[in-house]
Amino acid sequence: MFLLEFFLKYSTLQNISVAIVGAGFAGLRAAQRFEELDISYTLFEGSDRLGGRVYPFSYQNGYLQYGAEYVNGVNNEIYEIVKKNNLLSKTEIDEDGYETVVYGKEVNNKLYNIWDKFESSTNEKLERDGANKQISSQNVSQRIDFYFDAFLKTQKLSQSEQTIMENMNKLFKNQFQLEWSSPADDVSFENQNITEKRNLQLCLRNFDTWDSGVDSEATLNEYGFKTILDDLISKVPKTKIKMSSKVVNIDYSGNKVKILLSNGQSFLFDSVIVTSSLGYLKKNKNSMFTPSLPAQKSAAIDRFGFGNNMKVFLENDRPWWPRGMSTVQISGRIGSSGTGTSLEDDLMVFQPSLWAKNILVAWIAGNGPKEVSKLSDSQLITILNNHLTSNLKDVYTVSKIKKIYRHNWISDDFALGSYSYISIKTCQSNTEDIKLMRNPILINRRPIVCFAGEHTDSEMYQTVVGAARSGLQEADRINNYYSSL
Ligand SMILES: Cc1cc2nc3c(=O)[nH]c(=O)nc-3n(C[C@H](O)[C@H](O)[C@H](O)COP(=O)(O)OP(=O)(O)OC[C@H]3O[C@@H](n4cnc5c(N)ncnc54)[C@H](O)[C@@H]3O)c2cc1C
Repeated sequence: MFLLEFFLKYSTLQNISVAIVGAGFAGLRAAQRFEELDISYTLFEGSDRLGGRVYPFSYQNGYLQYGAEYVNGVNNEIYEIVKKNNLLSKTEIDEDGYETVVYGKEVNNKLYNIWDKFESSTNEKLERDGANKQISSQNVSQRIDFYFDAFLKTQKLSQSEQTIMENMNKLFKNQFQLEWSSPADDVSFENQNITEKRNLQLCLRNFDTWDSGVDSEATLNEYGFKTILDDLISKVPKTKIKMSSKVVNIDYSGNKVKILLSNGQSFLFDSVIVTSSLGYLKKNKNSMFTPSLPAQKSAAIDRFGFGNNMKVFLENDRPWWPRGMSTVQISGRIGSSGTGTSLEDDLMVFQPSLWAKNILVAWIAGNGPKEVSKLSDSQLITILNNHLTSNLKDVYTVSKIKKIYRHNWISDDFALGSYSYISIKTCQSNTEDIKLMRNPILINRRPIVCFAGEHTDSEMYQTVVGAARSGLQEADRINNYYSSL
């Protein structure tokens, strides 16, 4: 009897076949799980590259990262790969190595110290606000302004000192734009084809919901995510991956799921795991599924936030920044085009690479990535050179940028942005959007269309850890169902 049951269960699993859409960390981890379980699958990747938003590129004796670079938390599989391969950086970012330049001048120690106290107390207040149900649906940027206005009233500052503080506040808000990939206003969502764009900014609840277990972010060495990606890929046979195979429709109206590719080919499967980015789903969900997605899931996809930050790697003849400088921040810029909302206003944060000695990394958020994606390399180099030389001339002898390296996530058709966050709209609707986005479509209890990807992980959305975990979870969901038959 036992043997018969075992045989029936095994033969059901042997006979099923699953499609995985997307070979980022969610898709690769799901594939790896199916390998372990001996379940047949095909992994469809639309681009000509594996890794999705993990995108290492070779530079000198290592790899720079267009996408993910740090590993959050320690109790997870990605950190295990870091440990196994000795990938931790020997040099850490020096938190004291900040240089802040406002209107071309270094901010003096007196003002910096006043600011520092405000910043640390505000960070604590924001954490608390995130857990406070009465206010957690408010906009982070507006909440910072609220604290800042109250703080200014308590200080006896001259007009020029106040102006410096206002610029420090802009830099502070930009840190949130960068870290959470959320724009302070709605302007940068113009590219996302969303009719109702309002209220997609970052809400305070993120600070309470997002949780990596321990508050740590590992900085990796020059091999970093290249080795992590190779580790995942090594467990998935090439024969099971179809590269440059864009899935344009998933028809789950029949007993089998029909996967249609952009080249007209189609394939039948028992179940599918969709790992397309939230940006991709926002734009393509209406044509991608037959029948359409359930209304609640579709609305959650519209409501949830998907940001657009990026890095531009600036290659210089020589490192002009001093040893020990970890970041230079620029605000209240001086330069050619005066005030206004030009790209230069979003060129605020520059960090030397920890291992590529002549590389400075420009971290760009807000409206910047959209503007950057419209420019050629030579146009962008000219803007960056003018920006750095005019704003830093009293502080450093800046050398010219020779070459830049970048990936425009906002115009990458398979990403259409960087990563997700809880928006004001999600907070205000009082819905569990992550769960709604993750819920599988079931037909007679069968998980026929499953959803994975960073935006479906309840606590570590935004991250590779969350992405991989979601892929594993959906592979297990499918296995559990067919094993139970
Ligand atoms: C600039 C930047 C910095 C980041 N920094 C960090 C960091 O330091 N640490 C961290 O943990 N995370 C970071 N992230 C986020 C992290 O990269 C993502 O959370 C994670 O890689 C997402 O994995 P995923 O599998 O969910 O999606 P993706 O990596 O987007 O994978 C989805 C895959 O599906 C493919 N695809 C999409 N649609 C189709 C289709 N229709 N047909 C076929 N294929 C399709 C795509 O080409 C892609 O390969 C960063 C991201 C960016 C952009």
